Amino acid sequence: MRVIELSDRQEKIIQIVKDNQPITSEDIACKLSLTRSTLRPDLALLTMSGILEARPRVGYFYCGKSSLNFFYDTIKKIKVSDIKSLPVVVNEETTVYDAIVTLFLEDIGTIFVISDGFLSGVVSRKDFLQSCIGGTDINKIPVGVIMTRMPNITVVKADESVLDAASKIIEHEVDSLPIVHEVKKDDGNIGYKVVGRVSKTNITRLFVDLSRT
Ligand code: ADP
Repeated sequence: MRVIELSDRQEKIIQIVKDNQPITSEDIACKLSLTRSTLRPDLALLTMSGILEARPRVGYFYCGKSSLNFFYDTIKKIKVSDIKSLPVVVNEETTVYDAIVTLFLEDIGTIFVISDGFLSGVVSRKDFLQSCIGGTDINKIPVGVIMTRMPNITVVKADESVLDAASKIIEHEVDSLPIVHEVKKDDGNIGYKVVGRVSKTNITRLFVDLSRT
């Protein structure tokens, strides 16, 4: 498995903390001839990943974690809600044609389908292509006919980790997951309200952001 390398500056910060702990961010910045605000993202990342510990009014301590644990710990701590996108949703009655137009207008690959306000299905590029080459009258047939339907939808909750979401995406071989909030329906059954979307793109963007921090 590849792990994200710490930047030279982050390695230097760790060494300074190891040699001088506890040390304030001001003193770390002074030793590196940088401003505190320049260091803030590095310190946030190093504490979030458990490499450093920040004690208020005392300073930073080294916790001894290796960068090998760092990647796992970081993506385990980041919640799906931290990286989510807005979901694009249509009703089951929407025609396949209108749903395809939505796909283009919103520039996405997957649309979530709802019925009475609750998640009822997912429709993706392959579903649309299949219905088109199969000769479906896309102006008449609703997406409800061609979508993948509940309960076969893989979902994720907002407080699940990015690692959980990535594992589900790989395991179920899909591009995106609806982020859902579980609600007890009037009939006593459990329904899902769609509150967001997490896709391979969100996760890839997070990787790039982490490597730039
Ligand atoms: P694409 O069609 O662009 O390759 P996917 O690989 O995500 O996109 O979709 C493949 C199949 O999986 C489609 O039939 C789609 O309806 C279904 N699918 C997509 N996302 C999910 C999900 N979260 N849960 C269950 N099935 C899904």
